[in-house]
Amino acid sequence: MKIICDWGNCGQIGSYKAPLEKDNSKKYRLLCLEHIKIFNKKWNYFSDMTDQEVEYFIKSDLTWHKATKSFNSSENFFNILWSNALEDKLNIFKSADFKEYKKTLLTNTDRDALDIMELKYDAKWEEIQKQFKTLVKKFHPDKNQGSREFEDKLKKITLAYSQLKMTIGKK
Ligand SMILES: [Zn+2]
Repeated sequence: MKIICDWGNCGQIGSYKAPLEKDNSKKYRLLCLEHIKIFNKKWNYFSDMTDQEVEYFIKSDLTWHKATKSFNSSENFFNILWSNALEDKLNIFKSADFKEYKKTLLTNTDRDALDIMELKYDAKWEEIQKQFKTLVKKFHPDKNQGSREFEDKLKKITLAYSQLKMTIGKK
């Protein structure tokens, strides 16, 4: 007896196992190749997110408080999380909290700028301002017999500072 794909009115033969969502058991349904691909794509919902984003998502209060089912096992927890995520039921990615969180993530340009300014990636705006003053004094051509090398360095530092002013300085 051949098992038909369990996806809508699909008439293909179902030969691929897809775990059942919102279910603690080891139950699965059988899908055809085309539909297992769609299923797996959704299953990998988190693959495009950074580790931090996934962590934030999992820890999010919204998820914990608004989900109606109890998270009585980790497996069930992820099943519920997954289905919520697919529909973005909780509007988590549109929420103000998530946008705020996103803002705290540094871009590569920010990182480069912090490197140029010899600062750590968690530097606060006040530290950046302080460091800028220190570096300007250190590399100012007037203090270095008009050295071209130092002038270039100072230009880079100024560019880095103006970059950080737009991102970290505005928070
Ligand atoms: Zn199918």
